[in-house]
Amino acid sequence: MKQVGEKKTMTDEFILEVQDLKKYFKAGRPGWFSRGENFIHAVDDVSLKLKRGEVVALVGESGCGKSTLSLTLMGLEEATEGTILFEGNDITHLNDRERKSLRQRIQMIFQDPYESLNPTQTIEEIVSEPLVVHGLAPSLDERRERVRRALEDAGLKPAESYMQRFPHQLSGGQRQRVVIAGALVLEPHLLLADEPVSMLDVSIRAEIINLLADLRQSRGISVIFITHDLGTVGYFADRVAVMYLGRIVEIGKMIEVLESPQHPYSQALLSVIPVPNPRLRKKRVILQGETPNPIDLPTGCRFHPRCPVAIERCKSIDPQLIELSETHRAACILLAK
Ligand code: SF4
Repeated sequence: MKQVGEKKTMTDEFILEVQDLKKYFKAGRPGWFSRGENFIHAVDDVSLKLKRGEVVALVGESGCGKSTLSLTLMGLEEATEGTILFEGNDITHLNDRERKSLRQRIQMIFQDPYESLNPTQTIEEIVSEPLVVHGLAPSLDERRERVRRALEDAGLKPAESYMQRFPHQLSGGQRQRVVIAGALVLEPHLLLADEPVSMLDVSIRAEIINLLADLRQSRGISVIFITHDLGTVGYFADRVAVMYLGRIVEIGKMIEVLESPQHPYSQALLSVIPVPNPRLRKKRVILQGETPNPIDLPTGCRFHPRCPVAIERCKSIDPQLIELSETHRAACILLAK
């Protein structure tokens, strides 16, 4: 298996290529009646390509596997099966040294800016820490200049007026900007943003999303934007991938998925987004029942117990997603033919 640093095999078009990725967790001891060990199928056969400078929104209810997918891409969880290519190199299984080196190029932004920041450190110390950990910018002046640039790129201007403050002296939106600056300071090529606005007031969500959009323009960074809220996707994603129970069930251009979702699950998610204009409102689709247990998945299409248009065949046929080059196709379209 190729590792970081070995000869590249990919074209420059894709920064990330995920193939048949699985991440299963052991779910305790088998019960009296089970035949073998039980596994939680958190990520189950996910394939995804991301172009350089592209923003893909990964959308789904909590527990659908989107956060586990991002942790696996980041190497914070070990993949069970499948491959992850980043800039042409196989990064599926790396040792600690290789993983540390990779973190310079892939950074993650977590949802809680309150938890992510050490309250005893100044903003300058927080943002410069990744440079110290990676042994970059050894002189103080050099470090300070990179911190200043990262803070200003994250919209905290002038940077000098924030550097000696502590996290509690900032608003929620400013703290999330500090978190983003901490990621930017290493000049990553890919950002994994896991619900970066869900803890913020509605009034500042758009500011943070606009900031990510600006960074993609100014720095050419690729972004995987993870959210449970399809309503935030329309701002800047190029494509949308909808996840359900560990699988991507629909993927396509943002405008296509938002205006004409094909999969019944995507249709249900979109139907409950508040729309101010009553003429544009869609009929609300309230899904019945709970999301099935990821240890004991339904047979056939795993959405069939909740799907409002399921047919008998859906209980026995497991449809696979097919993505045609520029248009999206949902699994159930194929099944219905
Ligand atoms: Fe619904 Fe069947 Fe399509 Fe699954 S395959 S989403 S159950 S119609």
